[in-house]
Amino acid sequence: MDQKLEHVKIEGKDVEMHPGFPVRFACMEHVDEELDDYVNDFETAPDTHRAELVEGDGLDKRCRACGAPAKMALLKEKGL
Ligand SMILES: [Zn+2]
Repeated sequence: MDQKLEHVKIEGKDVEMHPGFPVRFACMEHVDEELDDYVNDFETAPDTHRAELVEGDGLDKRCRACGAPAKMALLKEKGL
């Protein structure tokens, strides 16, 4: 599932998301696949953070591929 947020908190710090790029989550089993998908879908490598460090309104932290609790967040920070 693609989740579009304007801001998320990463390690408690408010971080602005790059418009047009979603936040996705992946379990360890699917993280390589999700990295490839992100690059294929958006032609850019995402920034990755541990899922537990990323918080946002209504953020659903389940693996996009299998629905398991996610370990990694894939997102694109504005200005990076
Ligand atoms: Zn998974």
